Amino acid sequence: MSENAARRLVSMFQAISDAVEAEKDHLSELDGAIGDADHGTTMSLGFLAVKAELAKLDLDQAQISDVMATAAGAFLNAVGASTGPLYATAFRRAAQVVAGKTELDLATCAAIIEAMGSGMRERGKGQRGDKTMLDAWLPAADAAAAALAENKGADGFWRDIVASAEAGANATRSMIATKGRAARVRERSLGHVDPGAASSVVILRAMASSLNRAA
Ligand SMILES: [Mg+2]
Repeated sequence: MSENAARRLVSMFQAISDAVEAEKDHLSELDGAIGDADHGTTMSLGFLAVKAELAKLDLDQAQISDVMATAAGAFLNAVGASTGPLYATAFRRAAQVVAGKTELDLATCAAIIEAMGSGMRERGKGQRGDKTMLDAWLPAADAAAAALAENKGADGFWRDIVASAEAGANATRSMIATKGRAARVRERSLGHVDPGAASSVVILRAMASSLNRAA
């Protein structure tokens, strides 16, 4: 029997947590250039908490919306400051769009990424060009919608998403921060990749490699 969708989604969160652990020091270094050097630690704590909470779910019974809602609550409990509510809102929105869905097909994956991006945008009241995680998530969401509309296969779908997120994150190098802690250093933020955009790429790459696999 093929692995159920809830299990695949839990595996995805495990893959994200592992990837964030591997990049933890690098993410904190990026944050140190323009912020308080805690971004790697923050994201690590958040996803370790998500992993721990998801381990308690009964995956024979849980729906993919339960997995997303559990991730939202766990992330918010573990990470109080800025990034916490943004990812919590993102996962909660994702939980809403997958309500009743039992398959993680490309349309559902696109809906998850789109819901996460728009949830973050509304919660953070931001937009592209602000030098934040939105500079990775919004292009990723656009790429997902475009790939779906073009009927791309899974490889092309995920490749486009990751490439768009990477390009968006790299573009933050030439932006001046206007939001969050980095806004306090304004011009000094020029030349540095936004740590939130960088961690978004880590997350989306992990999502891609985990979900782009036969169920
Ligand atoms: Mg920080």
